[in-house]
Amino acid sequence: MKEKEIEDLIADKSFETDIFNKADKIRKENFGDGVHLRALIEFSNYCSRNCLYCGLRRDNNKLKRYRMSSKEILSCAKKAFDMGFKTVVLQSGEDLFFKTKDLCDIVYKIKRDYGLRVTLSAGVLKKSDYSDLKNSGVDRYLLKFETSDKKLYEYLKPDSVFGDRLKAIEILKELNYQTGSGIMAGLPGQNDKILAKDLKLIKNMELDMVSVGPFISDPDTPLKNYSTIEESKMIKILALTRILSPFSHMPATTSMGVLYPNGRKKALLAGANVLMPDITPGIYGENYRIYPGKNIKDPEDNVNEIKDMLSSISRHISYEFGDSIRGGFYGKNS
Ligand code: SAM
Ligand code: SF4
Repeated sequence: MKEKEIEDLIADKSFETDIFNKADKIRKENFGDGVHLRALIEFSNYCSRNCLYCGLRRDNNKLKRYRMSSKEILSCAKKAFDMGFKTVVLQSGEDLFFKTKDLCDIVYKIKRDYGLRVTLSAGVLKKSDYSDLKNSGVDRYLLKFETSDKKLYEYLKPDSVFGDRLKAIEILKELNYQTGSGIMAGLPGQNDKILAKDLKLIKNMELDMVSVGPFISDPDTPLKNYSTIEESKMIKILALTRILSPFSHMPATTSMGVLYPNGRKKALLAGANVLMPDITPGIYGENYRIYPGKNIKDPEDNVNEIKDMLSSISRHISYEFGDSIRGGFYGKNS
């Protein structure tokens, strides 16, 4: 698909059943009806960066900051294991307090004691850090490029350089991480042309995991007065992402669920095959406020709700590891 064609499809306001059917067919052919659950542990909300869109930005002094101890992180990983999860996703702000060797030690213990797949999402790090973390056992890394428009990126992330983010994604691939990236849709200053370029870049990156979620405005950020993307357009973007990236795992993001009624279910019907239930202890999770509206739930209740939601669309939880289906990691979808 040419970039202009993608742009026209995004701009077209009619509901195109063809696109949704095609996206769902690709999802079913490549991933089946099993939905992988990745248990999310938000281990620190400290951040040294000042992204305009994010509630964790360093200048947000209304946020109560926390860091989980190694012991707390390991006990969360145990909880994930006991509940039958196969993957934990460790996510944080760019918290300079955590030294790479501390993270390596935590990851080593999670792998040794629970045999879980570990995904890390902690921003841009040095190549040597990515390498040490990979050697300690991190399997996957999530680093969204957020927008393919350099000017917009550097406006939204005033202390970051667009090229550094792209370089970091390249390094992750070189180091043989299962690599995830993606964007936010509905960012202030983003237009359909930029969105089309975003989707094309996602396709060209040949990612193992792709995450596309709606931007949600947070009242304690400079973007507090901006509205976000309408639901029908967002879901069409997800379907187009699936068509352009047929072999990438794709989550129905929490932000979809926060913003739209049955948002995650709609995403699952438009090509998504992954969910990321939050198992961060409530006292911390409520302060991991990237945007407002996150519903803190008991992990068991959360999984029960997911089971009901999946059975309503003839899908089910997959208890496989859900590795990349691109191969070259541990064998096909081991
Ligand atoms: N600090 C790391 C980073 O930026 O890559 C990882 C944590 S960050 C909170 C994870 C993701 O949250 C970002 O990649 C961004 O896409 C998303 N995010 C941040 N603010 C958001 C907002 N207001 N609405 C929707 N998603 C947001
Ligand atoms: Fe920090 Fe990530 Fe939020 Fe930016 S998006 S402020 S790097 S946590």
